[in-house]
Amino acid sequence: ESIGIDAGGTLIKIAHETPDGAVRFLKFRSDDLEGAAAWLLGRGDGATVALTGGKAKPLQALIGRPASYLVEFEATCSGVRWLMRRDGMEQGSFLLTNVGTGTSIHHVDGERHTRIGGTGVGGGTLVGLSAMTTGVREFDEIVRLASTGKRDEIDLLVRHIYEGSTPPIPGELTASNFGRWLQTGGSDRPEDVLASIVGLVGETVASVSVHAAGQCGASCVLYIGSSFIRNDLLRKVVAGYTELRGSRAVMVPDGEYSGALGALLSL
Ligand code: ATP
Ligand code: MG
Repeated sequence: ESIGIDAGGTLIKIAHETPDGAVRFLKFRSDDLEGAAAWLLGRGDGATVALTGGKAKPLQALIGRPASYLVEFEATCSGVRWLMRRDGMEQGSFLLTNVGTGTSIHHVDGERHTRIGGTGVGGGTLVGLSAMTTGVREFDEIVRLASTGKRDEIDLLVRHIYEGSTPPIPGELTASNFGRWLQTGGSDRPEDVLASIVGLVGETVASVSVHAAGQCGASCVLYIGSSFIRNDLLRKVVAGYTELRGSRAVMVPDGEYSGALGALLSL
């Protein structure tokens, strides 16, 4: 039995190859390292384990048995290649944007990959800013409410600035996230605020990715990370903005397990 674990800043993702050869995925919260360790110890002594991610060392200390360790970005890229092959979506050169707690961006070209950079605006921003402004703290609840909200009294669009004339860029682009709120004495409805936060995070991530794709000569951006889990609104914002800005967006199914899969594949 082989087990790959990506212990991230918020969630611990596990890819687990059972004796019959099937790959199963599961996750724990990173503040429940004990839960993950107990699950792992329950697998018995025969299981081989590979770890990656920022919380790999504390988890390793809890399980107190040998495990191999991988650099996170190596693991993530190898896991993504496996998922692309699984789904028949292989690409030669592409940009990979991982919207985790923070957002990191890589250029993958065949077997080579380079870290391009990232932004501190990510899934942690989505939950942190949401909790701070509306008091809603649970990811699923944030996403549910946001998807019923409206952004038009909060975000300033290009067409709001170019009143009565034709703007030089698409009028539906956001000119200023949250920039309309003071001007209109805008909405305080939690669902509207949350929709605008999803917009801010999604558009920032997409903008940075599209710039990086241009710089690397890649025409396609693959998006992964738990921020997209059951989060159709974020997917829509990110894919829409990426395509509006001239790149192709691919949302990789099970992408949040890339790091864990890469760790599993190393065994
Ligand atoms: P990093 O790679 O930056 O160390 P991570 O690997 O833990 O962090 P992910 O698991 O990819 O990051 O994504 C974490 C984000 O996913 C959270 O910030 C939140 O926006 C979102 N999320 C999805 N499901 C949950 C959940 N059940 N609990 C908390 N956050 C969740
Ligand atoms: Mg991660």
